[in-house]
Amino acid sequence: MAIVSCPFCGKKISSKAATCNHCGQGLAEVTPEQLERTDRDRQLKLNQSINNHAMMALLIFLGAFLYFYYKMPEPGSTEQILNYTVMTLSAIWYIVSKVRMIIFKRQ
Ligand SMILES: [Zn+2]
Repeated sequence: MAIVSCPFCGKKISSKAATCNHCGQGLAEVTPEQLERTDRDRQLKLNQSINNHAMMALLIFLGAFLYFYYKMPEPGSTEQILNYTVMTLSAIWYIVSKVRMIIFKRQ
């Protein structure tokens, strides 16, 4: 028995369940193989989405870093505060995406 996602509502269910205990959809006509395939597709999409987030965060961080490096905003200026804020937020975003990736891979 494996834990898979319901093909109708996406919640976790047993691959042997006859009906989904979340949305009540009958699963008798859906084979366990189909369930596992749907589950794999879903996981692949989620993995890709987390990857895209990490990539975007990294690009924004690099952009902000290069801006800081080349433009050298005046200390204490709004420009510098904004620059730091963007760098900090994108760094946090990147770390969160990486942690999500680690958690995701452990499942
Ligand atoms: Zn369901």
